[in-house]
Amino acid sequence: MKILHVSSEVSPFAKTGGLGDVLGALPRAQAKLGHEVKVCMPRYASINAEKHNLIPSGWEAAVDIAGREFKATASRVKDSRKKIEYLFIENAHYFGRTELYRDNETGKDYTDNDDRFSFFCRAVLSLLQKIGWKPDIIHIHDWQAALIPSLLKANPEAYKFYADSKTCLTIHNLGYQGIFEAERFARLNLPEEYNYAAAGPFEFWGKVNFLKSAITLSDIVTTVSPRYAKEICQNDEFGCGLEGVLSEIDPPVRGILNGADYTIWSPTRDKDIPHKFSAANLSGKRDCKAELMKECGLPMREWTPVIGMISRLADQKGWDLLEEAAEDLFVMNIQMVVLGTGDKKYHDLLLSLEKKFPDQLKAFLDFDDALAHRIEAGSDIFLMPSRYEPCGLNQIYSLKYGTVPVVRKVGGLADTVIDYDRKDGTGTGFLFEEYTSEAMLLAIARAVELFSSKRSWSALVRNGMKANFSWQVAALEYIKAYQS
Ligand code: ADP
Repeated sequence: MKILHVSSEVSPFAKTGGLGDVLGALPRAQAKLGHEVKVCMPRYASINAEKHNLIPSGWEAAVDIAGREFKATASRVKDSRKKIEYLFIENAHYFGRTELYRDNETGKDYTDNDDRFSFFCRAVLSLLQKIGWKPDIIHIHDWQAALIPSLLKANPEAYKFYADSKTCLTIHNLGYQGIFEAERFARLNLPEEYNYAAAGPFEFWGKVNFLKSAITLSDIVTTVSPRYAKEICQNDEFGCGLEGVLSEIDPPVRGILNGADYTIWSPTRDKDIPHKFSAANLSGKRDCKAELMKECGLPMREWTPVIGMISRLADQKGWDLLEEAAEDLFVMNIQMVVLGTGDKKYHDLLLSLEKKFPDQLKAFLDFDDALAHRIEAGSDIFLMPSRYEPCGLNQIYSLKYGTVPVVRKVGGLADTVIDYDRKDGTGTGFLFEEYTSEAMLLAIARAVELFSSKRSWSALVRNGMKANFSWQVAALEYIKAYQS
């Protein structure tokens, strides 16, 4: 099968979260199964062309955005052995910026994000047509790639080349839909009935919604865990206003659980951690903890569990619970290391908590991939109190690193962590249901208490390290979905 992935993030080239990790792994897993795969992403200024061996392709196309012509070119990275090629869509005006979606100075989204990703989708379709590489499946990811089905449906003559190609949309996070003011619709150069008339695919409470158009017009829609697939069809807490549309599509939304790329996220081979370790020999983990405490400037205390958090600083991730719980949390025998960037209010929160609890909390307000690995390896507990969580990857990585997850029972967190049962010693972590600081504190308290019982704790750690969420399974599930 020929599979084309279109995404705004692909690890290791550029990522802000789990989307990048998925695109770093899924296409490779599919190529391993023998499929021919291409992956298209924008070439942001932050992508290091030398490090990744980007080669100019010589291909170019003209793309019309709101009546103005922009030139699209592409660089490529080819791994012929793995039957996979990465294409980087270039245009300095739209992508010659270091950040992917927002201006870090103002903390606000770029005002031309609709134009940027409209350009991206059009350029992808034009360039592949020029090359003559005809995909069987165009697999689009999130709102940034969501224009593709409507472009194909609205211009069957211009895109005759893709007449036999089917589209698959994967929703990685429904909280980001690509919603723009109504007057911006004219810039898309799509038929007016796509917008207002008869609740066109883009129409969303008087605004323009990119993701909704792809939910309506793609051949199949998937999301990244079975539980999240159910949740987003059920109510507006998870459906973010699209629950009606999502529950009506046929075939229904399919939930395919993400895997973890264990070539990158495994304590036996991780190149970013100071000491390797395995379930059979955990001494390296103790050394990783000692190094992490040194790096944090916190005292190393063997009998005090270190709680790690690595996450975007966004409302989704439950930082408000941390704020509410702080006084009660830090009277417990714990230390905490946080790594994250995002909303200013949470930067301020973490800085003030760090000041208040200097012996217990270290906050790194940064995006630092290698540090994320060191925190995974050096922490005892990993906290993810998400309001909602499509899949979540850090809890899956944590299991492999013997870092016991404490998570809210939602979405992919509920699908990947099994609550610990003290009676028979089964389970892999600690779950709580209510989105309240009390419920979260209780779950943390259960973990902290068990930590003092070294034997039970080690058994729990080993339960988690045995869990296997490899991409092989998920890659096959996607192929089945395409075939359906
Ligand atoms: P989401 O996609 O909602 O951000 P996930 O748990 O699915 O959450 O994936 C997050 C990914 O991004 C993980 O690989 C995590 O390590 C990484 N990540 C998030 N914030 C940072 C950060 N500040 N520095 C380094 N890596 C980060």
